[in-house]
Amino acid sequence: MSLRPARPFALAALVLAVGALTGREFLSMRTADEIHPGPGLSAARRLSDYFPALRGTPGDTPVYVYRGAAAGGTVLVLGGTHPNEPAGTVAAVVLAENVRATRGAVIVVPWANASGFTHSDPQEASPQRYEIATPRGLRSFRLGSRVTNPVHQWPDPTIYVNPGGQKLAGIESRNLNRAYPGRPDGSLTERVAYAIMALIRTEGVVLGIDLHESAPEYPVNDAIVFHESAADLAATAQMALQAAGLDFRLEASPPNLRGLSHREWGDAAGIMAVLLETPNASHGRLKGRPSAALVVDGRDRFYAKAATLGRLFVPFGPEGIPLAARVARHLAGIAALLDALREVAPDKAVTVEAIPAAAEIRGRGIGAFLRPPE
Ligand SMILES: [Zn+2]
Repeated sequence: MSLRPARPFALAALVLAVGALTGREFLSMRTADEIHPGPGLSAARRLSDYFPALRGTPGDTPVYVYRGAAAGGTVLVLGGTHPNEPAGTVAAVVLAENVRATRGAVIVVPWANASGFTHSDPQEASPQRYEIATPRGLRSFRLGSRVTNPVHQWPDPTIYVNPGGQKLAGIESRNLNRAYPGRPDGSLTERVAYAIMALIRTEGVVLGIDLHESAPEYPVNDAIVFHESAADLAATAQMALQAAGLDFRLEASPPNLRGLSHREWGDAAGIMAVLLETPNASHGRLKGRPSAALVVDGRDRFYAKAATLGRLFVPFGPEGIPLAARVARHLAGIAALLDALREVAPDKAVTVEAIPAAAEIRGRGIGAFLRPPE
């Protein structure tokens, strides 16, 4: 059977049209999300201010500083180490748009692996964006990939030996949370890690908080992972959170697991380091169809079924675990860690106002705490 001459041309035109449309949507991921820091902002910087070799690269990213009038410690909060874990990013954005420091300083980096936000994981059918309702309409957020964009760092080695000497699968060479303490002349991901270490040292950070999410079938979930230097701090925060009805399990950072923030920030920079995890069905393996709605409402019948079979490490009912509940947990975790810092290291205390309370976010939605453009 032979094709009539018009058929191949029509088919080619269709392929070009679909390619142009999807290509445009994919390239739109290179445009940064909006953010509107509140009046508490003292300085808007770039990560490259701490490591100039990063300037002009896809690894450079905004850094927001909130400094109080009274002297105290400095706390660093990272969102977006893994851009496919949306609650960490959104919690950092909400923090950046609301927080005011009265004592000490808070530094917020909402998109720690900026390159990872410019693409999505291949063959996962992940949505590229999700939307949060605000009083002024929908606000769009990018859902990126767990790792740096291969367009920015290629090829992957067969075996990746990270700066701590750990051997990992090649793709992990693009995982920011395996690259600490970084290398000044290393890959883009290692240079980003190096720049974050430079920020920690230059700003005199005493406590670093790295915001993450994990799949509900993963055991480290609803957790505070802590470096041993932050053991008292994490335990104090956990008790306060528990009293407020928010269960967090405590997980000690394994000393032989190299390259992770909660290990290397503590070992290499001597700071208190913690990582917070909330359960995210949208990047788990047991989920049904991936969608932007799943990212936001966190409802998935396969996870609900898995929970009834005892396969999950968190409670997961038919109502799911919405993004608002996960962002609320992250912000409550940050607030509890700041309170605990005041107890365990009073001379390094950081006091802030206007971190939205968990009940408020669950009740009014995340959008009520996203500021409109000036
Ligand atoms: Zn993560």
